[in-house]
Amino acid sequence: MKQADVAIIGAGSGGYTSALELAKAGKKVILIEKGRVGGACLIRGCIPSKAFVHASNIVHKGKRSSEIGIQIGEPVIDMVRIQEWKESIVDKMVKGIEGQCKKAGVDVLHGTAKLVSDKSLVVQFDDERPDEEIVTDNIILATGASPREVPGFIIDEKMIMSSTGLLDLKEIPSSMGVIGGGVIGLELATVMAKLGCAVTIIEILDDILPFSDDDVTRTIKKGLKTLGIILLTGSQAKLIGTDENSVKIDIQSSSGSEIMEFEKILIGVGSRPNIDGIGLEDVDILLDEDGFVKTDSMLRTSIPNVFAIGDIRGNPMLAHKASMDGIRVANTILGTGIENEPVIPYVLFTEPELASAGLHEWEAKEKGIEYQTKRYYLAALGKALAMNEKDGFVKILIDPQGKMIGCTIIGPEASNLISEVTLAIEKGLTAKEISNIIHPHPTLSEGIWENARHLSE
Ligand SMILES: Cc1cc2nc3c(=O)[nH]c(=O)nc-3n(C[C@H](O)[C@H](O)[C@H](O)COP(=O)(O)OP(=O)(O)OC[C@H]3O[C@@H](n4cnc5c(N)ncnc54)[C@H](O)[C@@H]3O)c2cc1C
Repeated sequence: MKQADVAIIGAGSGGYTSALELAKAGKKVILIEKGRVGGACLIRGCIPSKAFVHASNIVHKGKRSSEIGIQIGEPVIDMVRIQEWKESIVDKMVKGIEGQCKKAGVDVLHGTAKLVSDKSLVVQFDDERPDEEIVTDNIILATGASPREVPGFIIDEKMIMSSTGLLDLKEIPSSMGVIGGGVIGLELATVMAKLGCAVTIIEILDDILPFSDDDVTRTIKKGLKTLGIILLTGSQAKLIGTDENSVKIDIQSSSGSEIMEFEKILIGVGSRPNIDGIGLEDVDILLDEDGFVKTDSMLRTSIPNVFAIGDIRGNPMLAHKASMDGIRVANTILGTGIENEPVIPYVLFTEPELASAGLHEWEAKEKGIEYQTKRYYLAALGKALAMNEKDGFVKILIDPQGKMIGCTIIGPEASNLISEVTLAIEKGLTAKEISNIIHPHPTLSEGIWENARHLSE
């Protein structure tokens, strides 16, 4: 039997961040992980997918270089070498986290944990070791989420893949059907199209990105079209059959039914919480209507000394939300927590990139919040033109006092640019205050500055 102040189930972005915070503050922490330390983000999510985003961007930029007078020949893509490179990044990241845990004195147990009561859990090991009981004052559930399946499609990671199988591909398929036009589906469709695969996205809803404003969705759809990606909305896919070389599906829409054949299928319809077999029912932990663990603003579950962080508590399922949850839960346990709902930016690595923080225009309208908004188009920005990247805009929303309440950026480096606006929204800065800050020239950040200036005129 082991004893701890805090036992954490799952060593992903949320779990290892909370473990490090608590151990550094002097708490005795046990972190239990059934796979590799690092979780989805490091091993099969954010980092591997961004390695592919980078690789595919090199190919894409090479193809577009003729627009500015540079002819580069047909690229030769060695997927095996790309995989080795990607794995080397993952290994480095995992070793880095393991090293930090060791240094901070976190006791990492490699096994599968299950709650027994609100103060104890049991860990099962893959090898001959007997189960270990852990008695603890606090428990943090950080078991994350897994790709959802589509009825009728069984993910075998060969012909019918989740994002995990796609990120392990050793060859680029000639064609791929992507079922689901959500964040992961759109991002990986973009990657594969840039690498030369013929991609069709099949989305059951009438449009993609239902959480975005129409002007944003239109720009993203234009980008997909430019890459040759076919987008079928209001369409449902049914599996007809699979053989060694292809998957045949029936795509049904209001205009009828069409049979299509693809070398591979990617299922990208979202994620479900990893709650099976972790003993929630034995401890009476309540779930929300979508099956995620319910938490209060201090990240407590329905049992006060049991907390839940990251993907297991639902949308937005993002690594930076999970890490911030890790910090917030540590503060709650240490007695230094405050009730707040941080602004959570999100990023979509499409072509062009999309990043957003705070309110969308449709949300402001729906909530009856008074606002003013303007768009600043990249086509007017020197740096964007010098990069041959003129598609996109910065769209800022301000309230009647001029405070920034929302922003969406479409364009190159949107993922890096959004941090400035997140800070402004979080700290209640006005557009005037942003326009009084010098932004270096020529940079893409001037798009934010120009927009803030126009809004504060
Ligand atoms: C393809 C893809 C791309 C993504 N890209 C991005 C991105 O660009 N940006 C972004 O912010 N987010 C991205 N995400 C989402 C991001 O990966 C998750 O939001 C993040 O990993 C959630 O962290 P977490 O700590 O909640 O859970 P996870 O990282 O899923 O960690 C949970 C851990 O718990 C372990 N576990 C589960 N059950 C048990 C048990 N009973 N006992 C012991 N261990 C257990 C699991 O093995 C896992 O390691 C992406 C996800 C995918 C799939």
